[in-house]
Amino acid sequence: MINIEKHWYDVVVIGAGGAGLRAAIEARLAGKKVAIISKSLFGKAHTVMAEGGAAAAMGNVNSNDNWMVHFRDTMRGGKFLNNYRMAELHAKEAPERIWELETYGALFDRTKDGKISQRNFGGHEYPRLAHVGDRTGLELIRTLQQKIVSLQQEDKVQHGDYQARLRVFAECTITELLLDETGGTKRIAGAFGYHRESGEFVLFEAPAVVLATGGVGRSYKVTSNSWEYTGDGHALALRAGAKLINMEFLQFHPTGMVWPPSVRGILVTESVRGDGGVLKNSEGKRFMFEYVPDVFRKQYAETPEEADRWYTDPDNNRRPPELLPRDEVARAINSEVKAGRGTKAGGVYLDIASRRPAAEILKKLPSMYHQFKELADVDITAQPMEVGPTCHYVMGGVEVDPDTASAGVLGLYAAGEVSGGMHGSNRLGGNSLSDLLVFGKRAGEYAASYTDTLGKRPKVDDKQVAAAVEEALTPLARDGGENPYTLQSDLQDVMGDLVGIIRRKGELQESLSRLSELRERIRKVGATGGRRYNPGWHLALDLRNMLVVSECTAKAALEREESRGGHTREDFPKMDAKWRQVNLVCALTPDGDVDLTHQPIPTMTPDLLALFDKSELAKYMTDKELS
Ligand code: FAD
Repeated sequence: MINIEKHWYDVVVIGAGGAGLRAAIEARLAGKKVAIISKSLFGKAHTVMAEGGAAAAMGNVNSNDNWMVHFRDTMRGGKFLNNYRMAELHAKEAPERIWELETYGALFDRTKDGKISQRNFGGHEYPRLAHVGDRTGLELIRTLQQKIVSLQQEDKVQHGDYQARLRVFAECTITELLLDETGGTKRIAGAFGYHRESGEFVLFEAPAVVLATGGVGRSYKVTSNSWEYTGDGHALALRAGAKLINMEFLQFHPTGMVWPPSVRGILVTESVRGDGGVLKNSEGKRFMFEYVPDVFRKQYAETPEEADRWYTDPDNNRRPPELLPRDEVARAINSEVKAGRGTKAGGVYLDIASRRPAAEILKKLPSMYHQFKELADVDITAQPMEVGPTCHYVMGGVEVDPDTASAGVLGLYAAGEVSGGMHGSNRLGGNSLSDLLVFGKRAGEYAASYTDTLGKRPKVDDKQVAAAVEEALTPLARDGGENPYTLQSDLQDVMGDLVGIIRRKGELQESLSRLSELRERIRKVGATGGRRYNPGWHLALDLRNMLVVSECTAKAALEREESRGGHTREDFPKMDAKWRQVNLVCALTPDGDVDLTHQPIPTMTPDLLALFDKSELAKYMTDKELS
C-alpha cells in the first residue's frame, strides 16, 4: 500500500518566487487557508537572483515618467503583441506594489532627496527600475518572506498555530493537478506531488490552485536559469486543459558569461549597461550603433558622444544603443560573433572598467564584481567582461484573463513568468519583478474570491491520484531504461542547435522530428535507486514537462513566418503586420499531442491607441487596422 500524506487547503500556490509569495499573501489576507509549495528550498527561486530591479513609473528620478510612458515602452518592447490590458494594469499598478513592499519592510536604494531611486534599463524611456544595488530580487524575496512570517505570527496569536492559515512546503514537487469533472465541467480539486527528500507522496485537496512556477530555461544548455526551471507549471496547465500562448518567444539575454565553460550562461546584469558599460567587438569597436533598427531610430543616439552625454543630460540627448531592448542587442552580438569579430570564447566584450571609477563600479555592481572575480578571475573594475547571449526568460505561457489571472479552467490561476501575454514578443528588463507583484496579487485575490463562490468543494478523484502515483513510480520500476541525464542533454542539444536565437524552417522541422524521437525515449526513461532523495528520479519526472513545452516552442516557431522580438527567422527576417494580429495557442489533444491554433489578439482600446503617434503604429499595424 502506498502511503499518501494528505492536506486540505482553500488555495494552493505552486511556486515560492515573487509571484507565488505575493499571491499567497493576498489569499491569506482574504482569510483563506493557504499552502505555498516550492520545488527548491524556500527562498531559492529565480526572483531571488534578479539583479537589476523592478520597473515602476514612480517618476522619482525623472518626473516626466508616468504609467502611460511605461505602457508605451512595454508595448514597444513586446512589438505590440502584448495583451494590452495586462500591460495597462501592470503600468498602472506597479508603483503601488513597490511602495507596498516598503510597508512590508523592504528598503530600496534612495535618491539624494530620500525617494526610492530608479535606474536606467534597456527599452525604458526614463530611469524606472527601483533597485537595491544589484541584489534587488534578494530584497524582494526577503521582504515577502518577512510578511509571510508576520502573518504566521498573527495566526499563532489567533489560532495558537503559526501554520494555521499559511504553510510552506519546501522541497516538494507537484507532478499533477487534480480535476473534478462531474457534470462535464472541469474544476480544480487539488494537486499531487512528492517530497524531494523522502520521496513520499503528498496530496493537497484544494478548490483553487495558483501556478507560479516560473520559466522553462533548462531546456537549453546555455541558460541563466537554474535546475528547477523545467516548465512544470506550463505542462501542468496544459494537462489540466488550459492553453499556452506565444511559446515561440524566448528571451535570449544578450549578456551571459561565456568563459570559463563551466559557468557559461550565468547572467551579467543589464545594469552594467544601464550604469555606463558598453559593448565592443574583438577589434575594439563599439558596434551597437550599427544595429539600431528603423522602428527605434528616433529614440537612440547616433554617435558615441551623444550616447555618453545622455547619462548626465537625458532630456537633451538620445539613449545609447546598448540600451535597446534585449532581443535587438542579443541579435547584434550574435551577428558580430558570426562575422568573426567575436572573442575566442565566442562572445564580445562588455566594458565598464574604462568608463567608470572603480569605487563606483564596486558600489553599484557588487555582485557582478564578485561573480567575475570568483568564477572567471576577472576584475571588472580593471578589465572588460566577456559576454554572449544566454537563454533567460520565456515570454510565452499560460493564457490568463488579464484582470483575474484565471487560466480558463475553473479554480486555476497563473501569475509571474509562467503566464503569457503581458510581455508580447519580448520582455523589457525589470518588467518581470513588477509583473509578478501586480499579477501575483491579482491571482491571490481572485483565487480567494473564487472559493467564496463555491457551494460544494470539488472532490478529488481517487483514480486520478492512482494514475499520478503510477506515473511517478514507473521510472523507478523500469530496469535498463533510458538515462534521464542523457535525455536532458539530448533535448538541450535539439533546442539549442535547432530552436535557438536564429531559426530556420528546415531546422525547425528537424527539431520536431528529433523531439518526437525523444518523446518515445522519454516514455522509456528509467531511474536507479529508491525514492529517498534521488535527483535522477526527479529529473526523469521533469523530462515529460520539458518535452511538451519544447514541442510547443518548436511548433509555434515553425508556424510564425516572421521575425519579432524573441523569435528570429532567418528565412523571414522582417516583422509582418499580419502576424501581429495572431497569437499562436497550444493545447493538448486527448492523446497528449500538441495542437497549435491561431487566435486573434485582443484589439487595443481607443484611449490606449491614442497614446501613440499614428506614424509609430503604422510600423506595426496593417492599413486596415489603422483605418
Ligand atoms: P520564480 O521566482 O522563478 O519561482 C518559481 C517557483 O516555482 C520556485 O519556488 C520553484 O521552486 C517553484 N516550482 C517550479 N516548479 C515547481 C513544481 N513542479 N512544484 C513545486 N514548485 C515548483 N527580472 C526583472 O524584472 N529584473 C531583474 O533584474 C531580473 N534579473 C534576473 C536575473 C537572473 C539571473 C534571472 C534568472 C532572472 C532575472 N529576472 C529579472 C527575471 C525574473 O527574476 C524572473 O522572471 C522572475 O523572478 C520569475 O518569478 P516567478 O515568481 O514567476 O517565478
